[in-house]
Amino acid sequence: MAERTETESRKLLGRLRDAMALDEPGQARLDRITELIAGSMDTEVCSIYLFRDTETLELCATKGLQPEAVHQTRMRLGEGLVGRVAQRGKVVNTPDAPSERGFRYMPETGEERFSSFLGIPVQRLGEVLGVLVVQSRDRREFSADEIYALEVVAMVLAEMAELGKFVGEGAALSARHQQSVTIQGTSGQEGSAEGQVWLHEPRVVVTNPIADDPHREMERLLEAVEQLRVGVDKMLEMNQTGDKDQLEVLEAYRMFANSKGWMRRMEEDIGRGLSAEASVEKEQSQARTRMSQVTDPYLRERLADLDDLSNRLLRILSGQGADTGAEMPPNPILIARNIGPGELLEYGRSIKGIVLEEGSVGGHAAIVARALAIPLVVRSERISTEALNGDHILVDGDQGIVHLRPEDTVATSFRDKMAMQAQAQERYASLRDKPAITTDGATIALQMNAGLMADLPSLISSGAEGVGLFRMELQFLVRNKMPKRNELVETYTRVLDAAQGRRVVFRTLDIGSDKVLPYMKTIQEPNPALGWRAIRVGLDKPGVLRMQLQALLRAANGRPLSIMFPFIAQFEEFRAARAEMDKAVAREERLGHVLPERLDVGSMLETPSLAFAPQQFFDEVGFLSIGGNDLKQFFFAADRENELVRRRYDTLNVSFLGIVERIVERCAISGTPLSFCGEDAGRPVEAVCLAAIGVRTLSMRPASIGPVKSLLMRCSLQDLRKIIADARHRGEQSVRPAVMDYMRSL
Ligand code: PEP
Ligand code: MG
Repeated sequence: MAERTETESRKLLGRLRDAMALDEPGQARLDRITELIAGSMDTEVCSIYLFRDTETLELCATKGLQPEAVHQTRMRLGEGLVGRVAQRGKVVNTPDAPSERGFRYMPETGEERFSSFLGIPVQRLGEVLGVLVVQSRDRREFSADEIYALEVVAMVLAEMAELGKFVGEGAALSARHQQSVTIQGTSGQEGSAEGQVWLHEPRVVVTNPIADDPHREMERLLEAVEQLRVGVDKMLEMNQTGDKDQLEVLEAYRMFANSKGWMRRMEEDIGRGLSAEASVEKEQSQARTRMSQVTDPYLRERLADLDDLSNRLLRILSGQGADTGAEMPPNPILIARNIGPGELLEYGRSIKGIVLEEGSVGGHAAIVARALAIPLVVRSERISTEALNGDHILVDGDQGIVHLRPEDTVATSFRDKMAMQAQAQERYASLRDKPAITTDGATIALQMNAGLMADLPSLISSGAEGVGLFRMELQFLVRNKMPKRNELVETYTRVLDAAQGRRVVFRTLDIGSDKVLPYMKTIQEPNPALGWRAIRVGLDKPGVLRMQLQALLRAANGRPLSIMFPFIAQFEEFRAARAEMDKAVAREERLGHVLPERLDVGSMLETPSLAFAPQQFFDEVGFLSIGGNDLKQFFFAADRENELVRRRYDTLNVSFLGIVERIVERCAISGTPLSFCGEDAGRPVEAVCLAAIGVRTLSMRPASIGPVKSLLMRCSLQDLRKIIADARHRGEQSVRPAVMDYMRSL
């Protein structure tokens, strides 16, 4: 029996292919398809419903229902049995449709005469494109074999739809990928960009969903799977000594690659007339649907592994590597579900914007995007399925919004905004070589934050006086193995060379919390932000800290050197870290290396406790830099990574300004140089307030230097001090409203 149905399916697919090959309008083609399917399935009705827009399905062709209903009958997603199939991406099979829950009778179709109903989602890679329905008068329940056969047909329809082969102009489906879509994501890096979509992982295009020779297809599949297995085994071998998590993923790959169920289903698909590629894609598609329904994070990961494996298999089968031969458009906007920092660095500044479906603000891709100053939007839902290579796209990194295939009016106002930003940039560029002096004569030193080689050209172009914070962990984060000391010496030498005598403050490794090195053993901690991180790791396991200190001393090669330690919470930790520094210096001296002409050793101030350290700490420390990002999160007990709370407390809250003022005062007593290097230093309003309460050095991302300088040059710190004092006196929670009034009066 199964064999007979297999032959039947193959015959039907053969006829479908012939129908597609005919040179006729889309509608005639669709009509012919419904006729063929109804004939083959022996049902009175076969209909195809396609999405008109994301919420509405439309009857696009039918054999058996009233022809007048075509393009007239519509239903909303979830409405009726057809809407339910589309919404859940699941089959509905019932001998008595009218008594089913949710059944909705459409009088114009004349469907009241039909009792049994089988609805199959037409989906491609987890995206439902429409619904294929067969109905018959007799109360019949469709067999598993029949369902399977129709699923195979639906797969072919989806593939044809993707290729635009069966929908003519103006038909619903082809319109889908032409519609403009606006997606609200989260800003990962500010700035705006306009360009064309460039998919990081272009979809493999299956051009031959139907195949004549199942034996040949079976052979091709087996060969490809074998190649895949060998590849996975090789990756496993190479990783035997590596990281446990990575190994787990590879083991899961191996399990899938050897999974009998997976193979069996694909072999059955081929038996019914699909090509090897189409059979892989059909399974992948169903795995994606499951993925969208599973909430267990572990299972989701495994389904994502299967998805990845299917992609590899498709590439092997179709001979389409990651490089599908498409040419990069002139202003490429990179679209990916996720991307590693290394891959992003490889693209470098050739891309104008980045949109990620997943990703996070603190993620490594975001760090690299910031270093390269490329506008980035993360958590942009569905972007990788909505976007096609070459689509026109606008990326608003300030608001975290993406406009895909925008309407002309949207594009025009976006360009206006970009033009205004460009004008502002020109204005900032003209200030580049001017010092930041306020109207009442205070000079504020503006420095930049850095961490990658890619940052360094900005040192000259932004007009920064130096690097106030060089996050050394970034060099470690973007690699997949621990760098060697010599490599570090080389890197830091290049950094100091590029600085051309300007001061660079190197901050030793700040790992832990959100910054996890891929090649280090991960420790499960209940609360990593409050856990074993930064200098705590450096002091407990001093090997890496020593390596960094030695590398820095050698890179300086006699030049002045500034080093600071992250996350010092008490005096004793600074002393211990400083002792490591002294040891490193003594060792270098013993080895006959030249020592820096001046060595400045300072500390970050990122925990409230340090603001209350003994005065001797302030006397002893070479300089201090307030890490406002961490200081604020610990001061307000509000996680900087948690969207629910991270914007809840204002930096200009009088309590926070109070702690910063206290630090300023204590530094003043001992004459300790103080700077502020958290994100707030780069926000103009926050920056001028910090200056007003006595912070004289601000270190920020390079793009912020212009806007901050421009505002500082228009402000009087004396006026601001009075405004802040008055607002406090009135008992206001934040001085922001009063300061904003002042800004408007400038
Ligand atoms: C900070 O905490 O403000 C800081 C500059 O360090 P990071 O953002 O690297 O934690
Ligand atoms: Mg910090």
